[in-house]
Amino acid sequence: MGEYWILHAEEDRAKAEKIGGMLQIAGLPVRWTESPDEVPEAPELMIAIGSEERLSAWNEIANSRAFNWLPVRFNRLGGSVGPLVIPGVTACRECLKRRMASLSSPDVPEAAAGFELSWQIFAGIVALEVAKWSSRHKSSFAPLTLGHLLEFDAFHIEGELSAVHRVPTCTVCGVRRSASLAAQPWTEAAVLA
Ligand SMILES: [Zn+2]
Repeated sequence: MGEYWILHAEEDRAKAEKIGGMLQIAGLPVRWTESPDEVPEAPELMIAIGSEERLSAWNEIANSRAFNWLPVRFNRLGGSVGPLVIPGVTACRECLKRRMASLSSPDVPEAAAGFELSWQIFAGIVALEVAKWSSRHKSSFAPLTLGHLLEFDAFHIEGELSAVHRVPTCTVCGVRRSASLAAQPWTEAAVLA
């Protein structure tokens, strides 16, 4: 079985350990790192925890190395997870940013401090998504975050799921940056086959 790599900034170590600990309970092999250079080719999934700035930088690396990865951002009462990125197939982080900008969605500020129990619950949701990904070939429970952004307020127990489609002109994964390439079909469903 491939390994699950958790990429995180130094200040997010405790959150990375929370998620990783739950993945280990689910029987998944987990490794932690602060550098994307340490992640070997073709990890089963890279789970990246960090600020929007870091996620954007990691998005370019993941796209160029064709890593499947799951972006995770914590905020004061929970956090946001997804869309799970399959390079060349699903929307990437830059596609999400462009979609959000076009909707004038306000950016949620980073949270240095938060409610520990809310973070614990949110970490559990992230771990559950990863567990669904791990069994995608043998169960009918696809991760919710495939093609979707999940924003979850674990304190008030409410969440919002938004579909996120690829942006053909995306500067990272766009298929129309080159005039010779035709638009690609949206093929999220194919990865579960
Ligand atoms: Zn993109």
